Amino acid sequence: MAITGTTQLLGVIGDPVTHSLSPVMHNAALAELGADYLYVAFPVAAAGLAAAIAGFAAIGVQGFNITIPHKQAILPLLAEVTAEAQAVGAVNTVWRTAAGWVGTNTDVAGFIAPLKAKPTWTGRTALVLGNGGAARAVVAGCAQLGFAAVQVVGRNPNKLATFAASWRASPLGGPLTTHGWDALPTLLPMADLIVNTTPIGMHHAAEQTPLAAADLALVPATAVIYDLIYTPRPTKLLDLATRRGLATLDGLEMLVQQGAAALEIWLQQPVPVATMRQALTDWLASA
Ligand code: NAP
Repeated sequence: MAITGTTQLLGVIGDPVTHSLSPVMHNAALAELGADYLYVAFPVAAAGLAAAIAGFAAIGVQGFNITIPHKQAILPLLAEVTAEAQAVGAVNTVWRTAAGWVGTNTDVAGFIAPLKAKPTWTGRTALVLGNGGAARAVVAGCAQLGFAAVQVVGRNPNKLATFAASWRASPLGGPLTTHGWDALPTLLPMADLIVNTTPIGMHHAAEQTPLAAADLALVPATAVIYDLIYTPRPTKLLDLATRRGLATLDGLEMLVQQGAAALEIWLQQPVPVATMRQALTDWLASA
């Protein structure tokens, strides 16, 4: 589709944002749909956030994604925040209405999507490694899936206490307990789903893993190991889990599905998820 005077703008704001894969998958979907939109990455420093979104309103940007470090800072700048985003405490998708910008969190839907293909999770136990931003979407997603227990492991007792307290008023935080990493030998044998939300094992330190083979030996044979990291594929964690005979999921599908959910909100029509997945897979294979 040619960029003309009628082309509408979508995008992602963050700092840094040049590494974002969102332009690749969104523009592939927009091209397939023949939609008159362009999706661009906008570097926005923390100090410039309010000015940036006021500017977006002034120039008619239709919607945008938000990544680090703005996912929480943007909340007070929005006219409305969905209940889900309020529960998570972070917004990753914003769209324009007559009343102003409305924000939601599609990371939860993205996280859940590949788990829905599995048998029911009701009554099961999830073990979440890390207590940062992505862990918040994971906790909300596990609550939606009906897990009876969500055990979050963190390395910083103060941050862990703040994390636990932030869920106390939320119905989504019901099954949550928090633990130090030293509790793993007790927690691993109980886990039906283990989610790595730490950056341990990302491409710049691909030889690292949050769980060693000896840890995975403690996990039930039916457990699913879900690493939110999508480069490398597989991570060392998922490689070790596969060797141990466990089912695995990586973070690519979450990335695709959170993007598809956002694009559906902006375009108000079904979007070509397979095209988005293929665009990302091709891009990562060529990188
Ligand atoms: P974040 O907010 O910085 O949180 C990272 C968490 O990991 C924090 O709890 C941090 O602990 C913990 N951590 C970091 N290094 C650690 C270490 N060496 N040992 C123990 N704990 C460690 O980051 P995020 O936004 O949640 O992202 C985390 C990961 O998820 C990244 O790899 C990101 O790429 C991935 N992610 C994937 C998707 C997707 O769509 N697939 C979406 C979002 C995020 P402290 O709190 O103590 O610092």
